[in-house]
Amino acid sequence: MNSSSCILEIDLSKIQQNYHILSKICESAKIASVVKANAYGLGADKVAPALALAGACDFFVAKLEEGIVLRESLKSTANIYVLNGVFTNELKEFTEYNLIPVLNFPEQVELWQRYASDLNRLLPCIIHINTGMNRLGHSIDEAKEFALNHGSHSNLDIRYVMSHLSASEEQENPHNQLQLEKFKSCLSYFKGARASLANSSGIFLSPDYHFDLARPGIALYGGNPTPGQANPMQQVIKLFAPIIQLQNLAPSSLIGYNMTYTTKRDTLLATLPVGYADGYSRGFSNCGEIFINGRKANVVGRISMDLITVDVTDLPRDEIFVGTKAEIIGDYCTIDKIAAITGTISYEILTTLSQRYKRVYK
Ligand SMILES: *Cc1c(COP(=O)(O)O)cnc(C)c1O
Repeated sequence: MNSSSCILEIDLSKIQQNYHILSKICESAKIASVVKANAYGLGADKVAPALALAGACDFFVAKLEEGIVLRESLKSTANIYVLNGVFTNELKEFTEYNLIPVLNFPEQVELWQRYASDLNRLLPCIIHINTGMNRLGHSIDEAKEFALNHGSHSNLDIRYVMSHLSASEEQENPHNQLQLEKFKSCLSYFKGARASLANSSGIFLSPDYHFDLARPGIALYGGNPTPGQANPMQQVIKLFAPIIQLQNLAPSSLIGYNMTYTTKRDTLLATLPVGYADGYSRGFSNCGEIFINGRKANVVGRISMDLITVDVTDLPRDEIFVGTKAEIIGDYCTIDKIAAITGTISYEILTTLSQRYKRVYK
């Protein structure tokens, strides 16, 4: 009965191992680290320096604010790229914090070029090409136009030309090949430029997708980049919750909000302090699974804001106490497995992990 805290263990050495696994697969390409959304919820201030120690020197965030915060955690030599681009009121901060914008459309290119020209400096950037995702990036025609007007971008130091795959985790999807072909044809407009296409799953499609820089995120954090096949990555996080109450219930007892579960037998019911406010989705109502000492128990009843209820009747009685630790995420309940239960993806499991959990970095 010593604590009611949920413990989120984050193993930084596993993230470093994942970085090395990916580096090995990409023999000829560098591995950047995508640390947007606070390193997928795991804490960019801890994760990014660990990756830097493993050899990473290129980091991608989504937003300017993330880049500014990240700069405090990294040496001034680390490259920090901002995927969402640069806007008029952000120019000064980009140069102040030495951030590199991904330029997604012609007006953004002009903005950065004009700023660089005003400063009489060469400013770094990435040029993003839309090869079929239709989310961000220059159209093929705009890319061609850019190349033809080469002379008017003389203050831009183009570090990479990049694009993003929209279905790379579907290895058989012909859209991957189509995007690859479009990307290659576009690169011919940017003579000598280095290129970047693959996210985590893209790395596993084939070396054709590696180019000069790969941009994995989820694979660094233990998500499976090859769904349907064995996960080549190391699991990074474990989440444990203690039992905070036990009850013996008679058959036909009604459990939780709206009585969505009725006991069918004498039931030993455990209550644990995680809920949908912690990112444990309400979708796990009556279908979540937790493990205690390697044995499975089912979530019964609705997920509450701060609590879940679990049928532990079939577990060994001498292991079940108030205070017994249950695995919510870990070796048995991997992030991919629990994501599948509610029809989401490991990315969402990670990025919704609660700030209320006690975080322990290893
Ligand atoms: C998020 C993101 C990545 C990383 O994707 P993962 O699937 O997590 O590896 C790479 N590139 C871009 C443009 C992204 O937005």
